[in-house]
Amino acid sequence: MSTRDISEDRKKVVVIGGGFAGLNFVKHLDSEHFDVTLIDKNNYHSFPPLFYQVASSGLDPASICFPLRRELRKRHNTRVNFNMGEVESIDTSARIVHTPLDDIPYDILVVAAGTTNNFFNMNYLAKSVYTIKSTSEALRCRNDILALLERAAIAPTSAERRKLLNFVVIGGGPTGVEIAGAIGEMKRYVLPREYPTISQDELTITIVEGSDRLLRTMSEDASKSALESLKSLLVNVKLGVNMKEYSPENSCVTLADDSKLDASMVIWTAGVTATPFAWDDGKGESDKDTPAFIGHGGRLKTDASCQVEGLPDVYALGDIAIMTGDPDFPMGHPQLAQVALQQGKRLALNLTARERGKESKVKPFRYNDKGSMATVGRNRAVVDLKHLHFHGFSAWLVWMFIHLISILGMRNKITVLINWIWAYFNYSTSLRLLIHPSRYPLSDDLRFFTESTEDKKE
Ligand SMILES: Cc1cc2nc3c(=O)[nH]c(=O)nc-3n(C[C@H](O)[C@H](O)[C@H](O)COP(=O)(O)OP(=O)(O)OC[C@H]3O[C@@H](n4cnc5c(N)ncnc54)[C@H](O)[C@@H]3O)c2cc1C
Repeated sequence: MSTRDISEDRKKVVVIGGGFAGLNFVKHLDSEHFDVTLIDKNNYHSFPPLFYQVASSGLDPASICFPLRRELRKRHNTRVNFNMGEVESIDTSARIVHTPLDDIPYDILVVAAGTTNNFFNMNYLAKSVYTIKSTSEALRCRNDILALLERAAIAPTSAERRKLLNFVVIGGGPTGVEIAGAIGEMKRYVLPREYPTISQDELTITIVEGSDRLLRTMSEDASKSALESLKSLLVNVKLGVNMKEYSPENSCVTLADDSKLDASMVIWTAGVTATPFAWDDGKGESDKDTPAFIGHGGRLKTDASCQVEGLPDVYALGDIAIMTGDPDFPMGHPQLAQVALQQGKRLALNLTARERGKESKVKPFRYNDKGSMATVGRNRAVVDLKHLHFHGFSAWLVWMFIHLISILGMRNKITVLINWIWAYFNYSTSLRLLIHPSRYPLSDDLRFFTESTEDKKE
C-alpha cells in the first residue's frame, strides 16, 4: 500500500468517495486521532449540480472540478492520504478494501461512493443514450451535441438537418429540466448567430416525464413555473408517459402509449442506483445473496449514526446510504448535496468525539432541510424554501449565489461567475470547442488506467 508512515496507535479510517459526503467527512474529522485514506476513482472532486452546464457548453469542466490532493493539503488535512483507484470489492471479515491496484486495510470504513445511472433493466440503453452523471459523461454529451450541430450545418436538405437535430430528454427532474432548458437556450440564441444554415424549427427538444408534472419533488408552483419557462425556450413537454424503448438504428423513441418521437440523441436523466460493490463477509455468501443491508435502489441501510446495519465500523454517507432512523424522513432522505454534506460532518464529529472520550457529544443525524432549487435557462430558476416558494430572476440570483459559494476553489468561483455574467449579457459562451480524443498512442491498452467496473459489466 503506497501511503505515508502509519501509526500503530491511530485507527485506520478508509473513505470511499471524495464527493460531497466523503470530502466533508474528511474535512471535519480530527486527523490527529486517525490515519485517513481517501480513495476516489478520479483525482478530483466534482460538482454535479453544474454537469448540465458542461454538457451544454456553458462551463468548462475545469471550472467545476478541483484536484483532491490540493484540497486535502489545505487547512489541517496534511495527515490524509489520497489513493486514486476504483473500489471493486469490500471484504468485511478481513477489513480490506480492494481496488485493481491496491488492497487497503481499515479499522473504520466510510462508504460515500454516490450513485450511478439506473436504466431500469433496459441495459441496452447504456450503449446508446447519453447521461450526465459525471464530468466525463457531461463532456461526451457536449462533444456529441456539437458534432450533431456541425453535421447539420453542412447537411444539404432540411429533412437531413431535422433528422440530425432531435434531442429527447428522458426524465423531468431537476437535471432533465436543466439540460432541456440549456439546449433550448442554444436553439433560441446560439443557433441563429453561429449556425446560420440551420433554421430554428429544424432543431427540436422534447422532455418526457412519467408523472403528471415536472420537478415532482418540488412544489406545484415550481413545477408550473418550470413548465412555462421550458415552453418559452421552445421545448416540447410530454407529461404522464414513460419511455418504452429506444431504437438508435431508427433514431426513434417509443413511448408507453406507443407514440413515437424522432430522436437523434437521447439524454437519460430518469434514475439512479447506488454504486455497487462486491461484498465479501468471509462466509463465501457474497456472490449468491444480496446482503441484508442493501435496501431500496441498492442503497446501504444505516441507522441514525450512519452505521451500516449489521456491519460494525462500516458507515455509509450521502446518496449511497438510506437512513430510516430520522423521524422526519422515515423513508430515507432525498439524494441531495445538503444531506451528503450534513451527514459527512455529523459522522466526523461523532467519531472524533468518541475518540476523545466525549461520548456526550455523539449525536444522531437529523437532516436540516434548507430547501431545493433548479434553474431553467440563462436567467430563470425556481426556489422552494421551507415557507417560501419563488421563481424567475430573483430565484436565479439566489441559485447563482448558492452554487458559487459551494464550488471548490476561488479560481473556479471567479471563472464560473465571469462565464455566467458573460452569458447573461452576451447570450453566448466561447466554450463550444469540440476537442476530439487523441489518436495516439494507437494501442488500446491504457497503461496507466484501470478499466472501469461499469464498462466491464456492459
Ligand atoms: C446532474 C446532477 C445534478 C444534481 N443537481 C443537484 C442540485 O441542484 N442540488 C442538490 O442538492 N443535489 C443535486 N444533485 C445530487 C447531488 O449531486 C448528490 O446528492 C451528491 O453529489 C451526493 O454526494 P455523495 O458524496 O453521496 O456522492 P457524489 O458527490 O456522487 O460523490 C461520490 C464520489 O465517489 C466516487 N466513486 C464512485 N464510485 C467509486 C468507486 N467504486 N471507487 C472509488 N470512488 C468512487 C466518485 O468519483 C465521486 O467522487 C445532482 C446530481 C446530479 C448527478
